[in-house]
Amino acid sequence: MRLQNKKIRHFMKLIYFHHPYYRKIMKKQKILPSDIKNRDDLRKFPITTKIPLRKKPRDFILQPKQENIKKTLTSKQKLSALRNMQKFKEKMFEEYYPTTFFGTSGRTGNSTPVFLTRYDLEIIRENTKALLERVTKGIDTPIAQNMFPFAPHLAFWQLTFGIMDYPGTFWFTLGAQRTEAQVQLMEKFKTNLIAAMPTYAKRVSDVAKEMKIKSHVKKIVIGGEAAPKGMIRTIKDNFGEIGKVPQIINAYGMTESKVAMMECEEGSGIHLFPHLHVWELVDKDTMEPVEEDGLLVFSHIDMRGTVFIRYLTGDFLKGRIERGVCDRCGSAAPRIVGKIKRIIDMDKALNTTKVKGVLIDLDVFDNILSNIGNINQYQVIIKKENKYDPYSRDVVEVHVGPEKHVVNSKELVDKIKRKMKSQIEITPKIKIKDPDKIYENVMGTLKGARVIDKRKEIKKK
Ligand SMILES: [Zn+2]
Repeated sequence: MRLQNKKIRHFMKLIYFHHPYYRKIMKKQKILPSDIKNRDDLRKFPITTKIPLRKKPRDFILQPKQENIKKTLTSKQKLSALRNMQKFKEKMFEEYYPTTFFGTSGRTGNSTPVFLTRYDLEIIRENTKALLERVTKGIDTPIAQNMFPFAPHLAFWQLTFGIMDYPGTFWFTLGAQRTEAQVQLMEKFKTNLIAAMPTYAKRVSDVAKEMKIKSHVKKIVIGGEAAPKGMIRTIKDNFGEIGKVPQIINAYGMTESKVAMMECEEGSGIHLFPHLHVWELVDKDTMEPVEEDGLLVFSHIDMRGTVFIRYLTGDFLKGRIERGVCDRCGSAAPRIVGKIKRIIDMDKALNTTKVKGVLIDLDVFDNILSNIGNINQYQVIIKKENKYDPYSRDVVEVHVGPEKHVVNSKELVDKIKRKMKSQIEITPKIKIKDPDKIYENVMGTLKGARVIDKRKEIKKK
């Protein structure tokens, strides 16, 4: 905690002097950097939603001005400036000058950029190496396949940065495409470690089973989207038929957090990086801190480029943040324990979960559909009956791509209708489609959009 407090104190100075958005807030609310000494003090800041970020992404970038830079230098930096001005300037440039960005969504027009400096890339590299150390434990010769989608998207690059310098691991990447080629290479190289979005991991497992390869996969790291239980079971079953049943390790993070975190082993809970972020839970209605069952909120305490204080992720944790020592790996780093539900689509209003006047948890669709057998792919679309009329009825449309062996799709349709009616009292409209087409729609957003709410996209005539 001492290290965390030290980082918080220094970071608050950077925020106060160099961060356009939070500087304004601190001035207005009369918060001085010295008022924030530990993680509890961070609660003096209001919650930050995605709305101001979307309006002015630039205001969230640390951008020191000449006249203020002296005020935030550490004694080490001051010394280095005295010794070698040129080198000092280069260092400052590396620390603050953005070199790239990641997007919050693959959807065009809806993506907000989060900028990274070389300082950030170094942090990502170092901490991903720590994650890899944990995940390769027990694998003598790690052979890894990075199947995250190739895009300006955190998951793909974080793994790439980390694994490039990680000793003793052979790795390669084809992104999240050319599945048959991936599967052939998987067999050829005896891949034992995979990292992918769950939707893609499932597809790879389907194809691998169909091609009857011999699988050597021991661990699969999944991230980038929430994975329903039924989907995880299918992935395990599929791999289990052609090799050993792999461990599925959850990763959690988002473009805005700039680093994703992971379980130390299956079911351990996500280990946080307490030297990089402070995580907390807040009540979904009052935004007041809670100990259990709340929305996940984080603050950066050591990053440059785009940074946030008390950023509302839109993910709901049914569970708690454990601060005790982990009984599996012995680490004292806090863990997110419980189920993370992505109930709130931050690109839209906060309350989009009412369908036909019934308040539903969007996860329920995944829970029902991933547990009905014989479905290869699905997508749920909530929309208005008349797309030009915001007051028309809500309609739930389910696109279903049956498994190849399914001959009687009517039976499947009836089963889905029956299950939905009994569990959420909604009778959906069901369309049978080609599973490949559905897969493309789901993965096209890079967010595994299995459930989408189109009701806000009312068209103007
Ligand atoms: Zn652990």
